[in-house]
Amino acid sequence: MEFGYRLWITSSVRTYFSARRAVPGPRWHDRRMTDAPRGRTAAFAVLSAGYVGPRTASTVAFVRDGELRLVVDPGMVPDRQAAILRPLAAAGATPDEITDVVFSHHHPDHTVNAALFQGARYHDHWAVYYDDLWTDRDAEGFELSESVRLIRTPGHTREDITTLVGTADGVVAFTHVWWHAGGPEEDPYALDAKALSASRERVLAVADLVVPGHGAAFVPGPSTPR
Ligand SMILES: [Zn+2]
Ligand SMILES: [Zn+2]
Repeated sequence: MEFGYRLWITSSVRTYFSARRAVPGPRWHDRRMTDAPRGRTAAFAVLSAGYVGPRTASTVAFVRDGELRLVVDPGMVPDRQAAILRPLAAAGATPDEITDVVFSHHHPDHTVNAALFQGARYHDHWAVYYDDLWTDRDAEGFELSESVRLIRTPGHTREDITTLVGTADGVVAFTHVWWHAGGPEEDPYALDAKALSASRERVLAVADLVVPGHGAAFVPGPSTPR
């Protein structure tokens, strides 16, 4: 299982990272000093790439780092077996092994399948929830592990957060500041377009790869909407 999981990651992502590593210059170095997680030990799998249109599905992702087994945005999917549980098994984890769940924000399309993971702590912008225990804390800078941290990225809603994950191949941002690689340029549902733009810049400053709210992972570049 472990090998297959690792293989999935390398085959789908490594080519992107290799291309990015070739970019020289001090700006590259500076970018790494900002919000990047301290560690580079995590690995991830996109369980299901979301979409928007006549039907809506969330991108659902799995991250592991040491003891941490994290699911990001267990939201709307066409079929929870096919889009969440079977890909999770292929990535080497059972639902009961999930230790943590992060909600990028509170909209139901990113939260409705949260109860699949019965032993998990749930994280949002201002608290951690575990059984009947609500523990206040600010998500800004909060570390789930040495290689996994949360930052606030408001705009779509005031409560949006981004999960930054340090992998051997670079920093991956799980975020709703983009729905997919194309943006959209302007989020029609954004409560605060200026804040969203600032959040996008902040994520761009640190991310080598973006896993967006409703689409496949992409490498950010000059054409990525700001
Ligand atoms: Zn939303
Ligand atoms: Zn959404």
